[in-house]
Amino acid sequence: MPVKTEKHTRFADELRLIPRWAWVLAGLGLICIPILFVTVLSHDPKAPSFGGLVALGILAGLFMPCYFLLIVYVNHDAGRRGMNRVIWTLLAIFVPNALGIILYFLLRQPLPSLCPHCGARTQSGYGYCPKCGKNLTLHCNRCQHAVHADDVYCPYCGNALSSTDSSLPAPQPQQS
Ligand SMILES: [Zn+2]
Ligand SMILES: [Zn+2]
Repeated sequence: MPVKTEKHTRFADELRLIPRWAWVLAGLGLICIPILFVTVLSHDPKAPSFGGLVALGILAGLFMPCYFLLIVYVNHDAGRRGMNRVIWTLLAIFVPNALGIILYFLLRQPLPSLCPHCGARTQSGYGYCPKCGKNLTLHCNRCQHAVHADDVYCPYCGNALSSTDSSLPAPQPQQS
């Protein structure tokens, strides 16, 4: 059922934002960083025992690719949300202790939604589409509550929106 998988799908959608090359690099890092770590530091007389080095190497090999993927995600997500990609990517890279990334997740703007009439980008507060001027606030024609464009039934009165409400442009119920 769609309700069950929705959360999972959304997370997968977010992950799909990260391009394949970044996943490949992260995978390489996962393998190479521990090897490099152990090879370089095992010559250091002050280094911990070999077992300790391997454990630290694996930790670094997990941590650094994750950090890298987060930065790539910030870069792509900022563009999708109409935010400054360069500035947010630089903040994510250079602000220490991942504070730039945390700041990004706190301050990022909501995803723009698309106008159901012309497909232009709109924002949550918009009452009318900036491109085609059509009304973006959809109402159930039985109870007059505001409803979502992808609602198939009115959540307030159960009215079947797709068939009876002509003010709804394209609810497109997914038929299985
Ligand atoms: Zn429009
Ligand atoms: Zn209703």
